[in-house]
Amino acid sequence: MIDQLDELYRDVILDHFRSPRNTGELPDATIRAEGSNPLCGDEMSMTLKIQGDRIEAIRFQGKGCAISQATASMLTEHLAGKRLAEAARVIERMKQLMQGVPPSEEEDLGDLESLAGVRKFPVRVKCAALSWNVLEQGIAEYHKKG
Ligand code: ZN
Repeated sequence: MIDQLDELYRDVILDHFRSPRNTGELPDATIRAEGSNPLCGDEMSMTLKIQGDRIEAIRFQGKGCAISQATASMLTEHLAGKRLAEAARVIERMKQLMQGVPPSEEEDLGDLESLAGVRKFPVRVKCAALSWNVLEQGIAEYHKKG
């Protein structure tokens, strides 16, 4: 499937897959969340350290296909240092992107834009969505605890 992606997208995804950013586990995590995508066998767990309303640090640990692991790497790189409200906005935006809503010219999604390519492969959308779902669930539980 990777071979069928646009060249630009493929290179970004493969780079994150081969050299994943922010892997491991935060020992003093404020948020822990995990999930899986049984269709493909992808597994994902995330730890975040929240300071005030900001994501001070975020790491992931997972196994599975290139799309699922590269997505997690891009996600952590994009969201480290961001406010929780901004993270929630990015999660919503990424869901739209994978459903085929293209980024506007003013938007700067960085490497995340490469994930727009997966919408052409419906089976893979779940691989790309896994990290976002895990993060969304973790943030929701964090807010619930107050
Ligand atoms: Zn997968």
